[in-house]
Amino acid sequence: MGYLGGFAVTIRKFFRHDTPSGRVVTKEYRAGQGGASDQKRPKPQRMHGRHVLNRYEDGMEKCIGCELCAAVCPARCIHVRGADNDPDDPTSPGERFGFVYEINYLRCIHCDLCVEACPTEAITESKLFEFSFTNRADAIYTKTELVVGDDGRPQQLPWEDWRPGDDEHTSAWMRATAPAGDDSFEGIVAWAGELGYGVRAPEGGQPLERTEAEAAAHAGQGHDGHDGHDSHGGGGHH
Ligand code: SF4
Ligand code: SF4
Repeated sequence: MGYLGGFAVTIRKFFRHDTPSGRVVTKEYRAGQGGASDQKRPKPQRMHGRHVLNRYEDGMEKCIGCELCAAVCPARCIHVRGADNDPDDPTSPGERFGFVYEINYLRCIHCDLCVEACPTEAITESKLFEFSFTNRADAIYTKTELVVGDDGRPQQLPWEDWRPGDDEHTSAWMRATAPAGDDSFEGIVAWAGELGYGVRAPEGGQPLERTEAEAAAHAGQGHDGHDGHDSHGGGGHH
């Protein structure tokens, strides 16, 4: 009869939605079906959701049609074709622009290698992953769906379950660390402005930032606070 103990655990957990620590880990999620109980869990800034194609602050498209994203994609789900810009009415700065751009979301694994490969930060990702399709054509997003709107935010398609915040931080990955992961570049802005957002601030709370804060705190402890020494970046920096 010892196995009944196992059922006791199951029954106890069935009526509880929290953990011993008191933190609720489950949400009533109804996938956009409405109702006050339909909740999404907050997502990390760098979560890899469905992509966007960004534009510069002046509205020009960032994509230059170089096809690096398509070359690096392990699922081979990106199709890009570049074309020469019309000198009198250019789509992007420079000679070329992304004339055709498609992502097949039946194949994409959201690894974001395309985002890392892009030399102009044209392709980044939103926080949205709640989207599904009833036909193959809808699953292939083209420039019509991927290029951000005139406010710099992702376009919200009828079958996508957007909630407040899902369209923020579309460029979180590039604000996170630095080229080649070198932490000496942390906090140094090396990216261009975006339509609707301008130049995005670096992500805070990085290891180097913490190390500096700890060093400043230690330096502060070495003094009695009597000499008025003010540690660099202490307290108010975030
Ligand atoms: S996230 Fe990965 S699988 Fe998806 S399009 Fe980009 S490189 Fe390809
Ligand atoms: S999204 Fe970036 S990597 Fe892909 S074709 Fe455009 S500029 Fe090149």
